[in-house]
Amino acid sequence: MKQRKLLMIPGPIEFTPEVMASMALPTTSHVAPNFIEVFGQAIERLRTVFGSPSGQPFVVAGSGTLAMDMAAANLVERGDAALVVNTGYFSDRFGAILERYGASVTHVRAPAVGDVPGLDEVERTLKAGSYKVMTITHVDTSTAVRVDVRAMAALGRAHGALVIVDGVCSVAGEALLQDEWGIDLALTASQKALGVPPGLAVLVAGQRALERFHSRKTPVGSYYSDWSEWLPIMKAYEQRKPSYFGTPPVNLVWALDVSLGQIIEEGMIRRVDRHRRLSAAFKDAASAMGFRQVPTGPLHAADTLTALYYPEGVDAGILGRIGQFGVIVAGGLHPEIRARYFRVGHMGAVNESDILTVVGALESALSSTPAKTEPGSGLHACARSLNEQPS
Ligand code: PMP
Repeated sequence: MKQRKLLMIPGPIEFTPEVMASMALPTTSHVAPNFIEVFGQAIERLRTVFGSPSGQPFVVAGSGTLAMDMAAANLVERGDAALVVNTGYFSDRFGAILERYGASVTHVRAPAVGDVPGLDEVERTLKAGSYKVMTITHVDTSTAVRVDVRAMAALGRAHGALVIVDGVCSVAGEALLQDEWGIDLALTASQKALGVPPGLAVLVAGQRALERFHSRKTPVGSYYSDWSEWLPIMKAYEQRKPSYFGTPPVNLVWALDVSLGQIIEEGMIRRVDRHRRLSAAFKDAASAMGFRQVPTGPLHAADTLTALYYPEGVDAGILGRIGQFGVIVAGGLHPEIRARYFRVGHMGAVNESDILTVVGALESALSSTPAKTEPGSGLHACARSLNEQPS
């Protein structure tokens, strides 16, 4: 029997065989001509995936938290006012990082876990202060809440704030048009919808963000994160020239280029649509099985993952049972509701059979609990949803 389980957590995700094969290539020098070509191409491809033809990509060894740290370290100076549009655990983290670099942080929080802060409240707050930066967590992975980034970013811009978007759980899975939506910096990590094993922090800085960086009065407070070091490196790779600051994770960059090629081949519109369709099928199945989602309304429920409260009589013990049926899902993360819900990731290379498999495992696991789920209801709803909205 195959021992492998299907990994359906919100990152790391399942990667394509081509991406995994590129991880096993012989590691070259970081200045080998073929590696320089691959890194340069990956940098160019990131502009397409972020929708930022005018942006400057940065690819650095680290996780998504490093990408957040890098954004704050380079764009914030002591005493700057920062506004955090807060939808959960990762918005809190951005607040903490901004404070570490000396920002004075104001949070506009959702009225309840699973909700989004209102545009009117964000606008009132922006009007009342003089914010240098505003952060938005596109999809907060702790709540599966998705923010209307386009509307929020427009507000931030209109009030003179530099708009930073944490797209760790959205880039390459949800619609995100960095330039068109006026986003000054968007960031992500490799292990989510970008489809590459963990280890890369990825950012795209727009021209306004670069201008803010170049006009800093104080040095960047982190040696490793300083764009003064990384900017020449990114430019050199793009110009296909050798350079060195910190050794790049050669195989991960190779894998990134392969994955970006696959993403672009699928096409951003089709890719986002696939995520929407598969997410809808999973969510339909979840409601048919009697689950309630953490997001309080369908318009702000993400397509990259689903967060579900356990039904009456069910607790985190069911996660192990789901695992026995061959699927790994994730427990709760948001401190206020941690023990009451779980999360299922469905992003990147995810397909119809993955969705059917996770629904089947969930339904099978539920059948040994007191939950009043009609056997077959989840798979039935899932199949119907997939049939009603064919690819
Ligand atoms: N922001 C969001 C929205 C995330 O989902 C995560 C990771 N789950 C992070 C930031 C931090 O990324 P990492 O774990 O790669 O440091």
